[in-house]
Amino acid sequence: MNIHEYQAKALLREYGAPVGGGRVAFSGEEAWRAAEELGGPVWVVKSQIHAGGRGKGAFKEADAGEKGGVRLAKSIEETTQFAEQMLGKTLVTHQTGPSGKTVGRVYIEEGSDIQRELYLSLLVDRQTSRVSFVASTEGGMNIEDVAAETPEKILSFSVDPATGVSGFHGRKVAHALKLEGQQVKECVRLIATLYKLFIEKDCDLIEINPLIVDGSGSLKCLDCKMSFDGNAMYRHPELAELRDETEEDPKELEASKYDLNYIALDGEIGCMVNGAGLAMATMDIIKLYGSEPANFLDVGGGATKEKVTEAFKIITSDSKVKGILVNIFGGIMRCDIIAEGVIAAVKEVGLSVPLVVRLEGTNVELGKQIIGESGLNVIAADNLADAAEKIVNAVKEAG
Ligand code: GDP
Ligand code: MG
Repeated sequence: MNIHEYQAKALLREYGAPVGGGRVAFSGEEAWRAAEELGGPVWVVKSQIHAGGRGKGAFKEADAGEKGGVRLAKSIEETTQFAEQMLGKTLVTHQTGPSGKTVGRVYIEEGSDIQRELYLSLLVDRQTSRVSFVASTEGGMNIEDVAAETPEKILSFSVDPATGVSGFHGRKVAHALKLEGQQVKECVRLIATLYKLFIEKDCDLIEINPLIVDGSGSLKCLDCKMSFDGNAMYRHPELAELRDETEEDPKELEASKYDLNYIALDGEIGCMVNGAGLAMATMDIIKLYGSEPANFLDVGGGATKEKVTEAFKIITSDSKVKGILVNIFGGIMRCDIIAEGVIAAVKEVGLSVPLVVRLEGTNVELGKQIIGESGLNVIAADNLADAAEKIVNAVKEAG
């Protein structure tokens, strides 16, 4: 689960990490009040979306100002004006994709004087199954670009969970970041603080880009991207409140209500499959036959007719979908349940695209019979390759 920068900074502040003062604003009026409370003389107006690269991003609307999603303001009037220009507008960055994201809130922060921009992040390293730190002197840039062009400027190490972090880790980071004097102490403290937060809140990412040395020579977290392990949310009711559903794909949001493992993709073939492995294989074979999947969907083992109906409705609600492939290998899942779910959904929402169904396994005869007697225009398939070929061809012919 992702959260906004201002929410991440509130957590950083709660744990004692150095962040500047700031207020979230949903309207120009709130931005005015925030600027007044913060006092200036310089403010930063920051678009709050779940994507990075806002500073270099651009708005789609012409009246949103031309300077991107992070702007420095010199007066309360200007702060308010920038906030009003950003709110409700669509910000496109290298992380949002071409469709961009709508800015529903802005963060008004006291402006910082920047001496140096550094990079610091914590993430779960799947190779070592440990929490890793990544630090670099090249802050404010894409760390992927730094890794590709100047890998020697990146320090990375993982932490033994049995011993946790120590002063040694902090000093190692401070050395790599070329920090001096008091900054080394601040760095040691920051590393310990971030590690504690990461573990206690079940984070999967904390990225501070940039971490700055400010005008007074102190370290400060100027930006923060934070996300949490979705599987740990049950033990963090305090974090669930931070979820911003407007940031999520509406189809994925709907799917999560029914406990469906659904991920929206860009292709044209909607997939309904049981089992994550089979769902991956189905997506691969659709590509092999020359098309692209519109989604990943694993309806799970013990799905009910209602759940299958909802899954099918989510697939058909996607305007990109030009054909649907149902691929079920009934082990725990029964083929007749799938058949009933598909038919119930079609009765409710109709079916305007070709549908290929491949059923195998438990109650397969009953499943085929239910579909056969439904009067639905279904193309039956015998195996995975046959099913993929049939749906790709059917979409080509229809298109
Ligand atoms: P991002 O573009 O989404 O990563 O947003 P950031 O919060 O990292 O801001 C982008 C850039 O704006 C930073 O790298 C800084 O160069 C600049 N910036 C952000 N806040 C301030 C500030 O308080 N003062 C100054 N001078 N620049 C800032
Ligand atoms: Mg940043």
